[in-house]
Amino acid sequence: MNDIYARNIHKHYDNGRIRALNGVNLDIANGEFVALMGPSGCGKSTLLHMVGGLDKPDLGKLVVADQDLIKTRDLTSFRARTVGFVFQLHNLLPSLTAIENVMIPMHEIRQSESSRRKRALELLDKVGISKRVSGLPSQLSGGERQRVAIARALANSPPIILADEPTGNLDSKNGEQIMALLTQIWKTDGTTLLIITHDMSVAQRAQRMLYMRDGELSNNLPHSLCDDTGSAISFGGCFPGTKRDSERDIEVRS
Ligand code: ADP
Repeated sequence: MNDIYARNIHKHYDNGRIRALNGVNLDIANGEFVALMGPSGCGKSTLLHMVGGLDKPDLGKLVVADQDLIKTRDLTSFRARTVGFVFQLHNLLPSLTAIENVMIPMHEIRQSESSRRKRALELLDKVGISKRVSGLPSQLSGGERQRVAIARALANSPPIILADEPTGNLDSKNGEQIMALLTQIWKTDGTTLLIITHDMSVAQRAQRMLYMRDGELSNNLPHSLCDDTGSAISFGGCFPGTKRDSERDIEVRS
């Protein structure tokens, strides 16, 4: 079953002068881990925002976790129950402690204060910072802040996690730890995970990689991301489920 089904998605800005998404088709299965790559400005975040119900496409069909997002009127409720977001900048509220930040999304589903607190403590323990629950974001390291952001994303047990360059603001050691945590959550919780990244070492953790260019999606790595042998740069072997343009061309010709 598909968790994310998109057909012919268009999103234009500035009276059509900017075509951020230009007929995108996307199928992501329930529980799949997909990495989305592509140059800055090609439309990756716009697509993530559509899938997460932060905005609506101008045209097309978009069904996420069995909900038709073109027809859905209450996107706030959809977001609270269905998706957890992790952004490059953690987006924590600076005046709230770690535990208070994690409790914010739970207000949408009207749990009692004590059950919200209990759940937030469990989540902060799960992401490995149970000793920092009372820290303000300014008192936490970058890696700790991103762990709080991940705990917040998990607050309402969403079936889908959407992450926009979750390691983009971290050094390599912290980035590696955050990706290990997200991968572990994906494996143990069975969530669908869609990650935007520029980092091939992040992308290689996914089951499948998609490449976006000029508002269009492709399953094929561009030549610039492959070495002379056709392997994806920075790891040995072409990306699972991903083909170079030349391989695709051969298949098309044969
Ligand atoms: P990426 O995530 O790949 O860097 P984006 O999805 O952020 O790309 O942006 C795609 C294009 O749409 C860019 O040209 C960007 O400037 C434009 N864009 C994105 N959001 C808006 C907006 N709210 N208003 C106008 N233009 C936008």
